[in-house]
This record gives sequence, structure tokens and C-alpha cells, in this order.
Amino acid sequence: MSSSDDEGSGEEYLFKVVIIGDSAVGKSNLLSRYARNEFNMHSKATIGVEFQTQSMDIDGKEVKAQIWDTAGQERFRAVTSAYYRGAVGALIVYDITRRTTFDSVGRWLEELNTHSDTTVARMLVGNKCDLENIRDVSVEEGKSLAEAEGLFFMETSALDSTNVKKAFEIVIREIYSNVS
Ligand code: GDP
Ligand code: MG
Repeated sequence: MSSSDDEGSGEEYLFKVVIIGDSAVGKSNLLSRYARNEFNMHSKATIGVEFQTQSMDIDGKEVKAQIWDTAGQERFRAVTSAYYRGAVGALIVYDITRRTTFDSVGRWLEELNTHSDTTVARMLVGNKCDLENIRDVSVEEGKSLAEAEGLFFMETSALDSTNVKKAFEIVIREIYSNVS
């Protein structure tokens, strides 16, 4: 969105980004790692926290991403349309140690598609890449699914921080380039 109706000086950008994917793939921890540099080994569904806002600088402009977490709704397969409303970016997350979560990616993409009426910058995220010893989905499989669906792709670890910032920032830059 652009600046014509804002109250401040200069241009301001605020983008809504959603994180989707099966339960326990690490969505909440990816967000807490990115927004607060925190990780929780025993995190439960964080009821109440709807989104966190994180800013970055692009071309000397402050770009804010309002990043939404499902707060556990996905366990009931009932992520509401309100969750998707207005989203211009999405991280679709699976767990590289659980193939079933990778098999669900298609369903999440369909749901995202159904609920979005605009171009959405999309990143496929294979999380928990610190658990190489119990990997169940290869990097190549992730890459080729992403290519087939026209998504960015990255493996991440919310535990050791690998590629977390990068994944969010690639999505935010892509959104910015879609609108500017
Ligand atoms: P969500 O249900 O998708 O929000 O998943 P959570 O963020 O609650 O994480 C589920 C479980 O996976 C928790 O026990 C986390 O500590 C763990 N977890 C999340 N990300 C990682 C990661 O990158 N590596 C490892 N080893 N565990 C992770
Ligand atoms: Mg969660």
C-alpha cells in the first residue's frame, strides 16, 4: 500500500504476511526467532498472539511486515478466512523430518489460493534443518516442489537461526517489488 493516506512523513509500507503449514512444523518458533530472536523447545499453541510486526529497510524506506501466526487453529483444520484476509505474503512451512507435513503443502497452497484475491509472494520453508540425522524429505524434493508451484524455497532452523531472517526478508522484498 502506498502513502497517500498516511499521517506521517515520507512513504510507509505495511504488509500482511501469514505463516501456514501443519501443526508443530515450527511456525510459531520461526516467527519468535525472526521478531524477537527467541526459541522455545516446549512451545504450546500460543493462544492470543495474533501477529508481530517487524520492520526492515528497503531502498531507504521503512517497510513493516505484520506477520500472522495461526495460534494453533490449524490443529482443527479451521484456519479462518479472516486469517488470510489482506495477506500479500505467505510462508508455507513443513518439517523436513516429517514427510506427512510435506505432503500437506499442496492442501495449504489450495487454501491460500482460495482465500487470496491478489498476488501473494510465497515461500516454501523446510524447517528443522538442524535435524539432518532424522531428515525425511530431501532438499531436492523441496526445491522441485517449489519450482513446480512457482514458490521461493529455503530450508531453515528456528532452533539455530539458519536462514530464518533470510526467508522472511526475501518474501518482504518480493512484496515490496510487487507493489512499488
Ligand atoms: P507450530 O505448531 O507450527 O507453531 O510449531 P512450534 O513453533 O510450536 O514448534 C513445534 C515444536 O518443534 C516445538 O517443540 C519446537 O521447539 C520445535 N521446533 C520448532 N522449530 C524447530 C527447529 O528449527 N528445529 C528443531 N529441532 N525443533 C524445532
Ligand atoms: Mg504455533
